[in-house]
Amino acid sequence: MNHDIVIIAEQRDLKLQKISLELIYGARDLARQTGGRVIAVIAGFRLKESAEKLAEEGSDEVWVIDSPFLETYRAKPYAEAVSLAIKKAEPEIVLFGSTMTGIEIASGAAARLNTGLVTDCTALSLSPEDGLLLMTRPNTDGISIDTFVCKEKRPQMATVRPGVLAKMRAADTFPAEAAPPDLHSPAVVPAVIRSFPVDFSDIEDGVSVISTVKGREQESDITRARVLVAGGRGIGSPEGFKTLRTLASLLDGQIACSRACVESGWIDASPQVGQTGKTVRPDLYLACGISGAFQHVTGMEASRLIISINKNPAAPIFDISDLGIVGSVEVLLPKLINALTEYQRA
Ligand SMILES: Cc1cc2nc3c(=O)[nH]c(=O)nc-3n(C[C@H](O)[C@H](O)[C@H](O)COP(=O)(O)OP(=O)(O)OC[C@H]3O[C@@H](n4cnc5c(N)ncnc54)[C@H](O)[C@@H]3O)c2cc1C
Repeated sequence: MNHDIVIIAEQRDLKLQKISLELIYGARDLARQTGGRVIAVIAGFRLKESAEKLAEEGSDEVWVIDSPFLETYRAKPYAEAVSLAIKKAEPEIVLFGSTMTGIEIASGAAARLNTGLVTDCTALSLSPEDGLLLMTRPNTDGISIDTFVCKEKRPQMATVRPGVLAKMRAADTFPAEAAPPDLHSPAVVPAVIRSFPVDFSDIEDGVSVISTVKGREQESDITRARVLVAGGRGIGSPEGFKTLRTLASLLDGQIACSRACVESGWIDASPQVGQTGKTVRPDLYLACGISGAFQHVTGMEASRLIISINKNPAAPIFDISDLGIVGSVEVLLPKLINALTEYQRA
């Protein structure tokens, strides 16, 4: 083992996924402390552009497993290929995205490498005492946060929630050196891109993909939105989301929600923010009728500007808001919509 950190990048439909860059930024900060390099491993088919992007964004090396065998995602060949690359790299730490594919590949790799894995991490740091990776994640009891270490087995492996490493940077946990490199600076050395060929002829896949139905995930991915208009139980009914949608479209944003709305059957779970939902960091988070429970706040507190509307002046959401408006959403939201419509007409 050396002090290097491997990140497993993700690509979909020839596009490098945002989580890959977040993992690089997080790994850069850890590598600065371990004294190792950051190696980005990417598996798939037709990876040229994604590999170049990874090289530009702060990896020291990019290892590319490019094969037609990997054109359609299947867990087994991906886990096998990635495990071979990790074995070769012998890193101290491996980071994956806490995405559906990231978790699947990570668990397959952990089994093949006979090491531990902590999934769904919301914070990472190195122990000042022994340098072990401290992997923090919410407990399933919904109240506690646990921190794990992998004492004996190597590499230490974690999957990290999308948005979390960006959030840590925002909170200044990540020092300035962890920022993405200035590509116009002559001091930046481009990363080495290496092919890592894998022989798939011996890999018993056992799975055939019969058909693929494209979802609308990209369109409604709230983790990419710059403006989120979020509704909680205080919006009163599913119709409340119609008002929020109107407001969101005026602000060129998207809607989000608390778990209470999902549990009430007012909306599906895809825009849920929080511990069991998504972690977001928009420029503006407008919280409407949301109390500010810890499980919700953990998914949105790193938003750049938080404005909250709540009729209870003691609602905890106000503790983390830049601007708190005490009032009823039924009264305030139509006024806000009218004012914005007038402003845009003028
Ligand atoms: C394991 C676990 C995981 C969880 N994960 C999540 C998660 O990922 N995301 C999440 O959101 N929650 C999660 N929860 C639930 C969380 O604990 C809260 O119950 C939930 O966030 C509350 O949602 P809310 O704020 O919309 O509803 P409430 O707590 O009911 O708050 C409603 C708010 O609306 C205000 N209000 C009422 N009427 C009006 C009005 N007319 N105008 C303005 N304001 C009004 C009230 O004053 C109140 O503050 C989790 C819980 C557990 C146990």
